[in-house]
Amino acid sequence: MRFRTRTNHERHLRIMKSYFRKNIERMIGYIPGIQPENAGWVKLNTNENPYPPSPRVIDALRGALGDRLRLYPPPTSDRLREKIAQFFSIERDMVIVGNGSDEILTIIARSFLGEGTEVAMVEPTYSLYPVLADIQDAAKNKIALNDDFTLTDEVFATDAALLLISNPNPPSGILYGRDEMERLCTTTDGIVVIDEAYVDFADCDCVPLLADHENLIITRTLSKSYSLAGMRVGFALASREIIEGMMKVKDSYNVNILSQTAAVAALEDQDYFRKNIARIREDREYLSSQLREIGFEVFPSQANFILVSPSEKSAREIYESLLQEKILVRFFDSDNMNRYLRITVGSKEENRKLLDAVKRHAG
Ligand code: PMP
Repeated sequence: MRFRTRTNHERHLRIMKSYFRKNIERMIGYIPGIQPENAGWVKLNTNENPYPPSPRVIDALRGALGDRLRLYPPPTSDRLREKIAQFFSIERDMVIVGNGSDEILTIIARSFLGEGTEVAMVEPTYSLYPVLADIQDAAKNKIALNDDFTLTDEVFATDAALLLISNPNPPSGILYGRDEMERLCTTTDGIVVIDEAYVDFADCDCVPLLADHENLIITRTLSKSYSLAGMRVGFALASREIIEGMMKVKDSYNVNILSQTAAVAALEDQDYFRKNIARIREDREYLSSQLREIGFEVFPSQANFILVSPSEKSAREIYESLLQEKILVRFFDSDNMNRYLRITVGSKEENRKLLDAVKRHAG
């Protein structure tokens, strides 16, 4: 050993300093929500779908298990791209598939951001965006939202090379109008990414804007609305030139064969999908109204989660009491967000357990 250090902490600091790029040394990595490995939890913390994937997905996966695993998967997921393209009535070369939409966002960051490039994002939003910016050593421009999580004029004045905006936007689940998103595409010279991870639970999406805006990228995921978080499939829609550039950046075999197979089968079962979406939207409204009734502030959500602010006890106290009962919701331990809890809409039974517990603990 060339160096001798006294504590683990010193060793940690030394290794970070000696070998990593400066921006990686300084940055804080993404912190995912808790994923307990044991059963028995009411898990309402990471916006997963409470219902299983379509039975057709399970059948398709069974069929894919076998000798096929010996081979690399199709590198650009072309069957799946075709399916997605058909679904949106666009060309296949306007679609790129990724290992979750997180990978799509990584490809975007690697494609458009270098050291010092300005990247704009609203705050609060999906907490992966600043992490991706830091990895690229890009210059983050965090634009604060209004107190009710609506957009300020400042968002429309950005001249960043890349603007990342989630719609609906977590953690409130607020949906910005298509007209506002179109205004962004026209007032900004850079790339506008509209992250539509939750849009299947909303009244309106922005796909029609693709026809007129060459600087627009829309990202989607099958993790939430298609119950496939464990398979990791996301995709982006954009002009063919943008997709062609992003293809250069992605890993060669970025989506495994089982995920490609599952995604095609999931997209083919639209009846099942629509039924699930309908019940989650209905239960979102029920949960919201019940929590409003006990005095919580509940923001109007168009996603599969709701952001609430308790009236009497603190969000932290309620979070901790729920945890004791093995009910997991998301608490944000930061100065500007620690008044809130974000709760995923679960199954009817999970929602009932949550409401019972909240009613017992909130007063
Ligand atoms: N975008 C937003 C806004 C999200 O909340 C999430 C889920 N954490 C993702 C993208 C990523 O989803 P996935 O990688 O599972 O497709």
